[in-house]
Amino acid sequence: MNSLPSAPLTDGMHLMVDALKRNGVDTIFGVVGIPVTDLARHAQEVGIRYIGFRHEQSAGNAAAVSGYLTQKPGICLTVSAPGFLNGLTALACATQNGFPMIQISGSSDRNIIDLAQGDYEGLDQMNIAKPFVKAAYRINRPEDIAVGVARAIRAAVSGRPGGVYLDITTAMLSTTMDAEAAEATLFTPVDPAPKQYPCSGSVKRALKLLASAKKPLIILGKGAAYAQAEEQVRTFVESTGIPFLPMSMAKGLLPDDHPQCAASARSLVLGQADVVMLIGARLNWLLTHGKGKKWNPAVQFVQLDIEPEEMDSNRPIAAPVVGDIVSSLEVMIAKMDNFSIHCPQEWLDAIDATRKVNMAKMQVKLTTVTSPMNYFGALRAVNDVMQGYKDIYLVNEGANTLDDTRNVINMYHPRLRLDTGTWGVMGIGMGYAIGAAVTGGKQVLAIEGDSAFGFSGMEIETICRYQLPVTIVVFNNDGIYRGNDPNLSGGPDPSPTSLTPGARYDKMIEAFGGVAYHATTTGELRNALSAALASRKPSLINCVIDPAVGTESGHIGNLNPKSVVGSLQK
Ligand code: ADP
Ligand code: MG
Repeated sequence: MNSLPSAPLTDGMHLMVDALKRNGVDTIFGVVGIPVTDLARHAQEVGIRYIGFRHEQSAGNAAAVSGYLTQKPGICLTVSAPGFLNGLTALACATQNGFPMIQISGSSDRNIIDLAQGDYEGLDQMNIAKPFVKAAYRINRPEDIAVGVARAIRAAVSGRPGGVYLDITTAMLSTTMDAEAAEATLFTPVDPAPKQYPCSGSVKRALKLLASAKKPLIILGKGAAYAQAEEQVRTFVESTGIPFLPMSMAKGLLPDDHPQCAASARSLVLGQADVVMLIGARLNWLLTHGKGKKWNPAVQFVQLDIEPEEMDSNRPIAAPVVGDIVSSLEVMIAKMDNFSIHCPQEWLDAIDATRKVNMAKMQVKLTTVTSPMNYFGALRAVNDVMQGYKDIYLVNEGANTLDDTRNVINMYHPRLRLDTGTWGVMGIGMGYAIGAAVTGGKQVLAIEGDSAFGFSGMEIETICRYQLPVTIVVFNNDGIYRGNDPNLSGGPDPSPTSLTPGARYDKMIEAFGGVAYHATTTGELRNALSAALASRKPSLINCVIDPAVGTESGHIGNLNPKSVVGSLQK
């Protein structure tokens, strides 16, 4: 008896790739292994770029930063249990930062996991992910893949963006389905990040408050950078004449050398402003929660944010404007002429005077030559070279390396400065560098503290394998904060903050075919950086910094509890 020819089949793995492709996913960052290896192969087969990492946290960081740069969710692929957990740190960090990202992770046999019977890499991943993410979903059947992917995308990019966990079970990946029926399930969500206009009453309230200000200030946050609101921000800032202060990753949204930039008079403007307009910036620890001795106690706030619950989270907000930043500013600009908003000249003069004094002080620090180099000497050399490279990404992490680089290196274009962000987390360095190089197509300079670099340093192999135009400068002061701390017991072990004295991080990149430089003077650093950036080759400069110059915890020493009794007190 002849059997009828069977209809063509597909399986969960192929359908998952089809759904991602249908939704415009062009790159996956990940680490393969059981059960997602073939998924990565199929993705590559159909033209999705797959970038394979050495650790899931860096893959996740690359996905997160690509989400920040493109407003589309960055995709990170991980294996079950440990791989999932390694990626989860980056997913949680993306959620804190408000970056859209989806971590897709294979998971083991649910029947075994749910009865705690002990599976290979068995873990109840979706429930573990939930407290760390904006949303978590599991796809149990191939016919649900399209809906699962659509839900993940919407959750990642709508409202305040964030991290989404998408669990794909081993069983689902190998379940077959009629290919035609499977194809019919696929779709692309319509308008996943809809515009959100503010109500007109809130806009009027905000404009009225700004018009009443004697010492107004605008604070730009990375939400405004994410929203790609540079055009509207410029119009609003320039037509009101109000000075602005960029948060770290908002540097360059308007150029740091803009005449209204008050960055070098930060203490003055925070201490005296009477009305502050927050545009995509939260009153979290990075702004000392809007209270305390750094702030004018009588300050009133206007806040533009897409997340209604953000309002009043730290300080009462006199004029909340809930909406997306581009739309909110468009409405404010359209209504602005009905209110006479202007910035009193005395306020601008006071800012200018302080700025001149502070810039002169900084100039002295930058031009003082020390041997070995201190951070400022090294940064002066970096800054000189950067004048020829204003349009490249600057990745930055560390303690002193972070604080001092942020203060010294001006940014001139939006979304080029990528740093430790809302958590102030170490370990984003190489992941962000790779994500930016792959997604943004520009070359990358990563300025890394030696300790910070260690968290993701193995990814220099990834950088070399894909021949990415990434130059890393390691500010090497032999330790965390500094390298000359003693062991208080007098014993032979290094102190808790010490790393290997005189370590040669440059030698590491040679092992993978990258270009190595070693710099002990500002002249050597300038030459090395010029050569490295001109070559566009994977390169690492080991920059020797005086082990004695770092400040404990950098600028946030106040957050570091000190022992109040015993020997450390002395
Ligand atoms: P920073 O650290 O630079 O101060 P934060 O991450 O604290 O910035 O704040 C960013 C804010 O921007 C978040 O509260 C987030 O809800 C908001 N945000 C992000 N995207 C948008 C958008 N498109 N429109 C409005 N607000 C946004
Ligand atoms: Mg260090």
